[in-house]
Order: sequence, then structure tokens, then C-alpha cells
Amino acid sequence: MTTHQVHIIEVAIPLYLDRTFHYRVPEHLREQAITGRRTLVPFGNRKLTGYILGSVTESSIATLKDIIEVLDSELLWTAGELEFYRWIASYYQHPLGEVVRTALPAGINIQTRKSTSGEPGQLTGGKSARREKFYLPGSADTPSKQPSAKAREIMAVIGEAGGISGADLRKRFGACTPQLKRLTELGLSRVEEREVYRDPFKDCAVQRDQPRLLHSHQKAALDAIAGRLDQNQFAPFLLYGVTGSGKTEVYLQAISHALELGKNALVLVPEIALTPQLTGRFQARFGGGIAILHSGLSDGERYDEWRRIRRGLARIVIGARSAVFAPLDKIGIIIVDEEHEGSFKQSDGLRYNARDLALVRGRMDQAAVVLGSATPAVTSMQAAVEGRLTLLELPERVEGRPMPAVDLVAMKGTKGTISEALSLCLAETYEQKRQAIVFLNRRGFATFLVCADCAKPLTCPNCSVTLTYHRQRGQSLCHYCDYSVPAPGTCPSCHGTTLTELGAGTEKLEHELKELLPTARILRMDSDTTSGKGSHERLLSRMNDGSADILVGTQMIAKGHDFPEVTLVGVVNAEASLGMSDFRAAERTFQLLSQVIGRAGRGETPGRVVVQAIDTEHYAIKAAAEHDAAGFYQQELEFRREAGYPPFTFLAAFAISGLAEQTVTEQADATARLLMRLKTELKIRVEILGPAPSPLYRLRNRFRRQILLKAVNRTDLHRLLAMWRQRATVISTVRISVDIDPVDMM
Ligand code: ADP
Ligand code: ZN
Repeated sequence: MTTHQVHIIEVAIPLYLDRTFHYRVPEHLREQAITGRRTLVPFGNRKLTGYILGSVTESSIATLKDIIEVLDSELLWTAGELEFYRWIASYYQHPLGEVVRTALPAGINIQTRKSTSGEPGQLTGGKSARREKFYLPGSADTPSKQPSAKAREIMAVIGEAGGISGADLRKRFGACTPQLKRLTELGLSRVEEREVYRDPFKDCAVQRDQPRLLHSHQKAALDAIAGRLDQNQFAPFLLYGVTGSGKTEVYLQAISHALELGKNALVLVPEIALTPQLTGRFQARFGGGIAILHSGLSDGERYDEWRRIRRGLARIVIGARSAVFAPLDKIGIIIVDEEHEGSFKQSDGLRYNARDLALVRGRMDQAAVVLGSATPAVTSMQAAVEGRLTLLELPERVEGRPMPAVDLVAMKGTKGTISEALSLCLAETYEQKRQAIVFLNRRGFATFLVCADCAKPLTCPNCSVTLTYHRQRGQSLCHYCDYSVPAPGTCPSCHGTTLTELGAGTEKLEHELKELLPTARILRMDSDTTSGKGSHERLLSRMNDGSADILVGTQMIAKGHDFPEVTLVGVVNAEASLGMSDFRAAERTFQLLSQVIGRAGRGETPGRVVVQAIDTEHYAIKAAAEHDAAGFYQQELEFRREAGYPPFTFLAAFAISGLAEQTVTEQADATARLLMRLKTELKIRVEILGPAPSPLYRLRNRFRRQILLKAVNRTDLHRLLAMWRQRATVISTVRISVDIDPVDMM
């Protein structure tokens, strides 16, 4: 099919519509209107951006509208990527247009345009590339007049460089606009506008490093990956290596191998791990050619990175969740670091899981996919047992460093936040001039305030949660909707003035540590202290350069950081994450504790850990403290099998929410009834649980109910959902979302 024959095209529109649309292409746009570009189309009385999927030979629709214009000259997606989008649309039962919109970088999409001013042949969109003036040597040999001395100096530099930006010239010569103007007038220099790519690395000086000599387990893992890379075949691996076992070194060398084969590499990491520390290691090893996609980038920076990748200027892409859509071609290897992390799952809109999609993309591109973790997801472990993932193990830390010794301290019946054992260890570590980390997965000062008169806790008027007391801010705050009241304040129920603090958060922990060790330099890292740009990095660098003794924080401090001087880790309230009514609570607790424990003793001095728990016998806590991962996975898999949860079943969750409680209840009941009917009609085996109030029954004023579907067979689940989509009627004031493979069950 050649482009000039295209008369009718199929267009996907980013709206919640389960279909695509046909448009006619007017004569003058025929050459341009090809798949991979966006088009502006009339839609009702609006003009919308649509995505051209391809041409159609005939359309049953009699009155087709004309497209208004074609918005791009470059192709935004390849045929392979479109296939990937289609797979996603089908699996997550999500409109294709919405999938494409999610995949493309923010800033490129426009909803409606008042005018049609975009010049054809230019990339148009919300954000334009930044352009900068470049000065090049001119063509005049003998100028009519001699320029000034300063201008001649500038001319020499331009000649030497062959072309240099105005910004660089000003750095060197100070203000020089008149001289540059004169040089161009005389034909001694000519100006060209060039696109500049904002460089997220620009402020980091990096020292190059060399590949390390691998220890035997690393070598076996690398050989397995490299062997499959050579074969150009899809090969999924689970790299299961304890904290500090050298997984990153394996990633780096496997990527090297892929690059040598002329292939490119995609690296997915949880947002929290995208620190200069990790990106610095990649830079040090590979130098340039790396693109980084993370949420700290402005839309413009992100779009720049995206275009660099699309144009083949980056061979390694490192990014959080959404980087799974990076427009990288010739992908040889995809790494998913910390593959167990919940943050790979998008929690709204297109609820995709980047970890799962990495496998799908790897299969389509015939790439090696390496899922790495010290605490793999329970489902990944089972996949390895069943042979769907090839297991590669790094059971020991590098250079034979021991795993830290862990003391489990029972806190039942005791008062106070810091146990005797932990305070002794802290004092000792401080005396030895070593560093410590104290972990408490709760921010704020007190967990909540309770009225001494009526015994009611302060709760959020919009959400069914208690308000957390933040002493520094002088506020009681809702962590879900940001509702706040001055604190301590008075009881909203009885106006009592005596409010008691219950439970401890990181702010209180910091306060108590200061009382315990008044001269120690203590840092706190949680979302209250890291909201400013760069504050996260500043805190980490103070730990790295030794200008802090103790780091207190939430789960933010648990992951990925490599502080060689940390020899003590304290965990306050190990069961903080067990209380959640979620079948993954034990798994999350085990993973989080193992990760925190793993922060100790990564350098030459062995580490020790004090874990405080109320229930020291809980299997997740005990297994983490005893470094008994095998025991944990075995017990957890037994529980999952008995209770019928993943990996032994597939799940889909319906969330039904609205402002009127009664309407939400009615809609939830009707939805469940319809699902039951369809299930009988289809004669399939799907368990329908609920409707039940969501654990967070009220959130931002909305009442929330959920229905959980469980099936042993994924196809059954899929058929039921597809049928439901065709038949469902939804009350207009109620929102229903369907989450395939849900992670957040709150
Ligand atoms: P992980 O990613 O498994 O936590 P890292 O790759 O960060 O482990 O390795 C931990 C530390 O050991 C790092 O400082 C790394 O540079 C170092 N390291 C890794 N592999 C080797 C090796 N083969 N020889 C010496 N040091 C190594
Ligand atoms: Zn709230």
C-alpha cells in the first residue's frame, strides 16, 4: 500500500470510547496523512487530536468528515510500537487512543486548537523544542570593512570551533551581541538556529569507571544473559540477588554486551531509585548516549529526551514506569530493577504495570528481559519455579561481606519509641563515628490525636482516616486529601481542649533521637522534608560525604541507596505495613524489612540491625530478620494457594465511587448482579466477591465500594469483562474503574 492511495484513514481519539473513527483525507494532505502521525480532526463541534492508525480501503459510513490537518512531520511511533499499544489496549481493555496518549510524552498532545497555525513539516505540539542561535564561519573572504579587535577575536574562535552557540560565546567574551551583529552584517559569520536538547546531566561531573572483575555467581548470571542476547531471542530472567550482591554490576556488563552487538538497552527503575547515585553509575560506565526519564523533568525536558531517543541519539534509556514506552528501537535488553516494587503499576487512567509490559515488549522485540530484586515478587518466584522465568541467583554479598546480624526486640507492653537495645547501639555507633539509619514507615509527629474527654480521634471530614499530627507545622493533616486544621486545637466533636498524642511518626522519632544524642547530626527524610526540588539529593549527599550521623526516614530511605559507612540500622514498628487489609501485606512487609536491613554493613565494616516489633513471631518479620527468604516464600505461597490469590488466580477489581452514598451502593449492587448474570450466561468459572465497602471507604469526599473478580483462567476473566463492557449501564454521577491485575487494594 503506498501513501498516495490513502483516501480514508482510521484514527484513534484519546477519549474513553471503545472504538476508532474513519476520516477522509483531502487531496492536499494525502502524502502527509500516514500512520505514526497525529492529525487534527473535527469531532462533534470540537477539534481534537487523533492518532493515525492506517488507511482503510472502504468505510461503511456514508458521510465521512475530512481531517483538518496533519500535525507532525516526524513519525511518533513505529509499526512495532503500534502493535505494542494494541496489545495493551486489548489486555487492559482500554481505548487505543488513550493508550497512545499515555505512551507519548506529556506536552506533545493538544486537545483543541483555536487556530490551525502549525506549519506542515514541523513538529508541533504543546511544547516546542528550545532553539538557540549558533554562529558559523561566514563566506566573505575580504570584508568591505575591518571589524573591531574584539570582533576579530570572536571570529577566530568561531573559525576554530567551526560553529559555536551564542551562549558559549557570551560565557567566554561577556556581552558581545553588537560584535556578533557586525560580523554577520559583514558576511564574516552566519547564524543558524539549532535545536538544543536540555541536558539533565549538565551539572554532574562524573568520573569514568571500569567494569569490575565478576565473582563466580555474577559471572554465571552474565554468561546466561549474554548467551541469550547472542541468539536474538526473547529470554526472560529473574535475577535474584541479596542486597549488595552486585546486581547492578551484572546489569552494566549485560548492557555492555548488548551495545557491542549493536543493540540498545532499556532500564526501568522505581521512581525513588532514580537518584544521581544510580544514574551516575551508568554515566560513569558508558559516558554519553544515555537518556533519563523521571518525574522531576519538566514537560519540555521530558519531550527533549523523548526526541533524542526517537532520533537514535541515546542508546541507553533509564526511567521510571512510563519509560516502558520509550521510543527506543533495536532493544536488545530490558532491565527491571527492584521488580517487586508496587510503583511500576500506574494507579489511574491506563492502569498498566511496567514490569509486566517489559516482558511483553521484550517478547515483541526479541530481547532479553532481566527482572532484578533482592526480594522478588511472590508471583515472580512462582514463575521461576514453573520455568516461565529463568532463575539467576546471587546468594552472597560481594567480597564475602556478611549479611548483618539482626536483633529482634519485642515491644509488647513497653512504652516509648526507642528501645533500650536500639538506644545502646545508636550511642555506640555514634561514638565509633559511624553512621546509622533509623526507619519508621510513618511521617508526622503523632499518628493521631485523641480527645481526652470524649475519646474520639481527630478524623478527616473528607476521608475515612485519622488526621496525622505534624508538630513543626502546627497542623493535623490528612495524608490523602491534604485537609488540615491547626493543631493541637480542640476536639471537633465535644470541643474538649485536652488532646492526647498517640503513635509516633518520623518527626517524633527525630525529636527523641535529638534528646538521646544531643550532639549527633540527624537528618530526616520523608515526603515532608523532600518536597523541594533537589532536597532529596541534598539529604543523600550529606549522608554520603559524612556530614551526618543518623538518617531518620520513611520507606524513602529503605531502597537502593548504597551508604558504605552505615553500620547500624534500626527499625521502629516493623508491623506498620501489616495492618493493611490487603493480601499482599505480608509480602510488602517482608520486602520492606529485608531492604532496610540490607542497608547495613554494605562497606567493609560488618553491619548490625535492631528490629522492634510488637509481634516478633509474625512470619514476615521473622523471616526478614533471619534472612530466611526461602522460608518466607514457601509459607506465603501456601497461603496464596489456600486463599486463592495470585500467582494461583488472576484478579480484576471494580472500583465504584461517587459523592452520594446511596447511588454508589445501588450502582455497586447492580454491577455485581450483572456480573453474576453474565457469568452464568458465559458458563465460566469466575469468583465474584462483593460489593463491599473499600478499606478506605471515603476518600476526598467520595464513597467507595469494590467488587473483586478472581479466576483461575485468564481468558474467562477477560471474556466476562469484555461482555460487561458491552452490557453495562452506569449512573452518570458514579464512576466505575476496572483494574486488571490490581496492586493497590485500598
Ligand atoms: P546490588 O545492586 O545487588 O545491591 P551493587 O551492584 O550495588 O549490589 O554492588 C554493591 C557494591 O559492590 C557496589 O559498591 C559495587 O560497586 C560493588 N561490586 C559489585 N560487584 C563487584 C565485584 N565483582 N567486585 C568488587 N566490587 C563489586
Ligand atoms: Zn482527607
